[in-house]
Amino acid sequence: MKSDIRVCRDHDRPVYTLSSSCPECGSDAENSAPAPFNPEDPYGEYRRALKRRVRD
Ligand SMILES: [Zn+2]
Repeated sequence: MKSDIRVCRDHDRPVYTLSSSCPECGSDAENSAPAPFNPEDPYGEYRRALKRRVRD
């Protein structure tokens, strides 16, 4: 079952909501499910490098 929980990251800490917009600032809330690729993931590069090394 897909999660309907959404999150606004425009605050000091994530604001979770079931609505499509943030109850605090009114901006669009995004689905809280982890994206398959997050360019801001600080560990993404390390994980991918590790994966590559295992495959080799
Ligand atoms: Zn907000």
